[in-house]
Amino acid sequence: MGIGIDLGGTAIKGGIVNDQGEILVERLIKTESHRGYAQVVDDLVALIKELLCSSPEETVVGIGAPGILSSDGSTIVSCPNLQWQNVSLKRDIESQVAVEALLVNDATAACIAEAAFGSTQGSANSVMFTLGTGVGGGVILNNRIISGAHGVASEFGHMLMAANFYDCACGKNGCLETFSSATAIIRYCRMRLEEGYSSILTATPNFDGKAIIDAAKASDALAGEAVNRLAEYLGWAIANISDIIDPEIVTIGGGLSYAGEYLLDKIKRETIKRLTYPDYARPEIVLAKFRNEAGLIGAANLKRFL
Ligand SMILES: [Zn+2]
Repeated sequence: MGIGIDLGGTAIKGGIVNDQGEILVERLIKTESHRGYAQVVDDLVALIKELLCSSPEETVVGIGAPGILSSDGSTIVSCPNLQWQNVSLKRDIESQVAVEALLVNDATAACIAEAAFGSTQGSANSVMFTLGTGVGGGVILNNRIISGAHGVASEFGHMLMAANFYDCACGKNGCLETFSSATAIIRYCRMRLEEGYSSILTATPNFDGKAIIDAAKASDALAGEAVNRLAEYLGWAIANISDIIDPEIVTIGGGLSYAGEYLLDKIKRETIKRLTYPDYARPEIVLAKFRNEAGLIGAANLKRFL
């Protein structure tokens, strides 16, 4: 059993997860970070106390959060979603409730959920890419998460791939997430439509990533081009990471993994032709098992992977 918290920009999810990865108790509250850091911490403490009432023997709470976390798991260095900079969340929780608070990046939490109970279960060396608004990443080596000297070890979304037609939110140009995220394929299709390309997407003015995937599956040329471009650059990234880390398995999660085998087949093809040792050291590439519950389940199992 474990207590996990998924701290997001719009909602905070807390729950108790059993040893089979099932969520036994789940609570959801609004984040409302505009009220200030102290108020959100008070809500977190109240939520943890409520969960401890259901599972009083727990001594640890894992908290998954977006943004940059210090490598010792004590501080949220930067969290644009919550407008937090250098906040000592571990200290501020532990001073109010008698638990050990462990912080982890949300993409790494998702990677833990997959390794503990999902698509990479049983593998000691796994890598996860989350394809959503941006691209997140997680790495588990020898059953331990990798966070690096400064806590930014698996920021796959900001690996530089090639010059691109728009800048990344991080300020650089050419980051993976400007090619292989939902935002990226939406911007790519919009640019091409402005150039005069025809597409069934014009029937849906505010199309999202899902609409592009559906259009690509329906043989729309522009949507197909956008999805192929996503898969090609992701293939570059997976091949590069595989050459460095040599994982047994790579899992693809996040909102765009909704595309299923259609996208997975493209990603596999684009990766395999760029691996240095495709016949000898070829990682299995799979779809993640968990969606919205990944952060909570992973956070609740963080201690096993430290
Ligand atoms: Zn970037």
